[in-house]
Amino acid sequence: MSSERKKKDYYEILGVSRNATQDEIKEAYRKLALKYHPDVNKSKEAEEKFKEITEAYAVLSDPEKRRQYDMYGEEGIYSQYTQEDIFRGVNFEDIFRDFGIDFSDLFKQFFGNYGAEYSLDIENDLDLTLQDLYRGGRKEIVVSRYEPCKACNGTGVEKGSRWITCPECRGSGQIRSYRRTPFGSMVTVTTCPRCLGAGRIPEKVCKVCHGTGRVYTTSKIEINVPIDVKDGERLRLKGQGHYQNGQKGDLYLNVHIIPDLRFKKDGYDLYSEIEINYLDAILGTFIKFENIDGEEINVEIPKLTQNGDTIRIKGKGFPKPYFGRGDLILKVKVKLPNKISEEEKVLLEKLREYSKQHSVN
Ligand SMILES: [Zn+2]
Ligand SMILES: [Zn+2]
Repeated sequence: MSSERKKKDYYEILGVSRNATQDEIKEAYRKLALKYHPDVNKSKEAEEKFKEITEAYAVLSDPEKRRQYDMYGEEGIYSQYTQEDIFRGVNFEDIFRDFGIDFSDLFKQFFGNYGAEYSLDIENDLDLTLQDLYRGGRKEIVVSRYEPCKACNGTGVEKGSRWITCPECRGSGQIRSYRRTPFGSMVTVTTCPRCLGAGRIPEKVCKVCHGTGRVYTTSKIEINVPIDVKDGERLRLKGQGHYQNGQKGDLYLNVHIIPDLRFKKDGYDLYSEIEINYLDAILGTFIKFENIDGEEINVEIPKLTQNGDTIRIKGKGFPKPYFGRGDLILKVKVKLPNKISEEEKVLLEKLREYSKQHSVN
């Protein structure tokens, strides 16, 4: 199906050449964004234009998306990415932070909430083994997030520099313009384009974080694993999310419990299997069993144990949150030999003869 609609040329929209550098693209977008920013420019076309340039920037500022676009045009983008994906990962704050404002609210209302980059919360998966659960308590995990920039203490203002009152609006965050009309003087109030309403701008932006006040880094943190956490549950770690402007989001961990080869957990009881040979099953014995915590348990196999019987060992299961432990339940698997010696054969033949004549069953 051929489209009659005019194709979007992202380069044309931003007014840059096809081989523009990332800096040129960023600069072009910033200029246009300040011109068409809906807080500044109230016309309906401005809103459309702002969306258009922002989409162009989102694509061209991402090397992978830009490559897709260069090769396949906008179809390449729309077939590959959802509307949400197009904007995901673009650091708009970085662009506008020089102006001393936080754009996240604007983008939220304008483009919808595009998830992680506007929310300070982080959502991660947490894989736990049964051993992790058994031990409970502390566990070290790795999290990638924005943390306060150490060079500027998270303010974005270069060390030795400071916040200054926005010279454009003298700190009010607003620009008033007066217009004479036949009905008298009219006042229009618009958001200051320089500080975008914040009323202050950094005198010099921090060189380390470029004024964003934060740096993206990967950290090891220790978390507390509740002993009774269940598969599919979500843990919330307050203040362990992204940092921005003096605030910290939360870290959410979606718990996945990795199936264990030897053990299954049900409530506080622990299930496993124990293999015994047929003679031990008939005559009874003691067998060593290694529990989940490595403890060796001497398990009593009563005589005439049947295949599939269960043996319950009190207090050797999972720790309960406050006191005591559940039980360990072992399912017996009776193993029959797959080869026997000539001697064994003779003995078994004798046994068969014997039981034919004296069977108790
Ligand atoms: Zn201002
Ligand atoms: Zn900094």
